[in-house]
Amino acid sequence: MSDVNPIHYFIHLEPDLEEFTFKGSTEISVRADGPVKEISMNSLDLAVWKAMVKIEGDFKACPFLVDPGKEALRIMLPEGMGGNIDLKVDYVGRINDRMAGFYRSRYQVNGQERFIAVTQFEESDARRAFPCFDHPIKKATFDVEMVIDKDLVAISNGAVIEETSLEHGKELVKFERTPKMSTYLLFLGVGPFEFIEDQGEILVRLAAMPGMTRYGTFGLEFGRKSLEFSEAYYGIKYPMPKLDLIAIADFAAGAMENWGAITFRENLLLHHPGITSKAGEERICEVIAHEMAHQWFGNLVSPSDWKYLWLNESFATYFGYGIVAHYYPEWEVWDQFLSGTTDVAFIRDSLHETLSIEIPGGEHVVINASTAPIIYSKGGSILRQVEAYIGQESFKAGLRHYLKQHEYDCASSHHLWGALEEASSQPITKLMKSWVEQPGHPVVEVKREGGRLHFTQRRFTFLPNEFKQQWLIPINIEFFYGNGKRDHVSSLMEERDAYIEIGEEVVAYKVNLEQTGFYRVSYQNSENLDALGSKVSEKVLSPADRWGLQNDLYAMVRAGKANLSDYLDFLAYYAHEDAYLPMTSITSNLYHAYLVMEGEDRERIASLGRSLIEGLLEKIGYEPTENERHTVSILRDQILWHAAVYGSDRALAFASDKFQTLLHGEKAVHGDIMKSVMRIGALTGASEAHQWLQERFQSTGSEHDRMNILTAMGSFKDRALIEKVQKYILDTVPARNQFIPVGVLSSNPYACAHMWEWYKGNLEKIEQFHPMHYERVIASIVPIGGLGRECEVNAFFEEYMSKKDKARDVIKFSLEKLEANSRMRGLQRLVI
Ligand SMILES: [Zn+2]
Repeated sequence: MSDVNPIHYFIHLEPDLEEFTFKGSTEISVRADGPVKEISMNSLDLAVWKAMVKIEGDFKACPFLVDPGKEALRIMLPEGMGGNIDLKVDYVGRINDRMAGFYRSRYQVNGQERFIAVTQFEESDARRAFPCFDHPIKKATFDVEMVIDKDLVAISNGAVIEETSLEHGKELVKFERTPKMSTYLLFLGVGPFEFIEDQGEILVRLAAMPGMTRYGTFGLEFGRKSLEFSEAYYGIKYPMPKLDLIAIADFAAGAMENWGAITFRENLLLHHPGITSKAGEERICEVIAHEMAHQWFGNLVSPSDWKYLWLNESFATYFGYGIVAHYYPEWEVWDQFLSGTTDVAFIRDSLHETLSIEIPGGEHVVINASTAPIIYSKGGSILRQVEAYIGQESFKAGLRHYLKQHEYDCASSHHLWGALEEASSQPITKLMKSWVEQPGHPVVEVKREGGRLHFTQRRFTFLPNEFKQQWLIPINIEFFYGNGKRDHVSSLMEERDAYIEIGEEVVAYKVNLEQTGFYRVSYQNSENLDALGSKVSEKVLSPADRWGLQNDLYAMVRAGKANLSDYLDFLAYYAHEDAYLPMTSITSNLYHAYLVMEGEDRERIASLGRSLIEGLLEKIGYEPTENERHTVSILRDQILWHAAVYGSDRALAFASDKFQTLLHGEKAVHGDIMKSVMRIGALTGASEAHQWLQERFQSTGSEHDRMNILTAMGSFKDRALIEKVQKYILDTVPARNQFIPVGVLSSNPYACAHMWEWYKGNLEKIEQFHPMHYERVIASIVPIGGLGRECEVNAFFEEYMSKKDKARDVIKFSLEKLEANSRMRGLQRLVI
């Protein structure tokens, strides 16, 4: 069979924002490497009414077939043709409500609902807007033009090069040709966009709905910075004269890296002074940096198959932090990388039901609740591991070489290994294959045998396993001597067992120094753990190592390899801990244990949590202060909620008091505690609080505020109010945000037990959520909400999966998480 490849598309679109339809005409120049009689491409939900081929300068109609099952359009040519072939397809389509393909997004003007039309194509939805070869390897250039109402604005990847007035108040807008790129990166948008601009060698603009650009300066400035960092680090110029950052209300994912026209949820681009918290501000920077990194990793060099999607997302995740760390070193974002990325990856990857970073390819490999923690978070963590192993300079040199070699083209994992191996002269191919091509990760068990350490690796999972897997593990160890001396050694563990001579003088050893390696450590000698514990309380160990020690121990608890009571005792070494990273982890581990355990066990966990958090709050203060550490502000907002759940009188009084001032509009509450104040207001409040939250939700113009309100709505204690919120989610909350309060309710100790019935009772409605959001609902409800009704939940999904293919991977891993939690509840009883 001959290979047919697209070279260039010319796309003409006429969207109708009253009927929510569009007329399209797409010309596609392809090259066939031999004679073909039929050309097949992708097309979905398009009503194609004419297909043509150019013969001797004229387009001639051809017979065609639409195959909805294969999402294909087959065009029969009049004769066998080879070489360059020009096709043309005329069609109409619908501007849908699915937040995929060409869809509509709502906004309000004076309380009235209006719509704009925008696109979201990754991975395989470009075919919903124009017939195309919808695979990343099928790169081509694109000319786009749109006919729009004169009072609207059109945005696409390239800059506007021509605007022509037409009849009936219409206008034809033509855009500059794109670089050679994949279909999933094309963007089309029509609406009353307003802009703010930053002129420079490359024009950077921020686009938003009317009245919203005044919140855009912060994002625009960081967009420019990210662009400058990227060009300098990667050593390759951004290839277009303009770059847009576009805020869109209804958006299924967080943001999308369309080349030159990056789209974001409003709260991930717009900054509302007084409302946006430090955490929100940091998240804006991190997402902008992530999407900017994609302009190189993904757009300039694309994956040769979806199986290599990690090459996009791991790098974007990694540089999402790296760029922010460069401009705001005082934000300590690499510490947050460990809690927000590496830990997320560890938990997801501790299940039998996990997958390799290089996911098997196919027509529709998707980013979803099952794959995202692996390809984004584990992938990003593996990059941190390899950078630590070969050093920053070799890492950078390797990446520059890789990008230059494959620019405007596609690459696979081995191309990256080759580049890093060449730059570092280290066995990167062998090392990375073991981390990227097999699922799971190891636990390294360390045992002192006289003057040497004995290391054994095996796969770590929460539930018992029989896997016989091995990894090439970069091991870094720090040794402590009685006289206060310290020393460290690095080694590559290539076998199942390894030994390192340490002599008799060493009094303690910390494995996985600075937690750069993606593996768990389990110390078999309790005296070493205690010796390290003392180094925790003396703060001799770094925050990352203090984090890793207790976090690995808690993982062993979840796996039944250590006792919960030992973990709680070990936390005594953290009595005076005040660093963000260990504290955010300890409070979240305790909260997990609190949700899983029952009765008096819960009381013991709550009492320990209360005293740890109260001590910390005394130290950092309940009220945010000017010039305090960035991570202190973030931590406070997280732990106030935990303190309230554990019944801290002081925290409850402080936050309830603040909530009253909000309720009565007396005084503004600081943005950095707004979320916890609203949550605690709901926890302790009655219908007055509920009423106030609903009214504020309807009236606010800020998506940051909406996030806080929806989080608060998930935090009620009163059963009747929880039911009202459950109904509100289905009736009133916009589709893009429905999964948010569901997630919060699922980890609210007063609501989590009522989520399963709600899910079952409203299944038909919940199944209509965006597929990614539907999966998140299952992933939030099942692992905790299923406790105590394991048989029923398992039986339900067994039947569900026998009938439907929907969310299968997510159901399976959620059931396994439930099983692991259930096992922990049985094994770890503290009070018998
Ligand atoms: Zn991304």
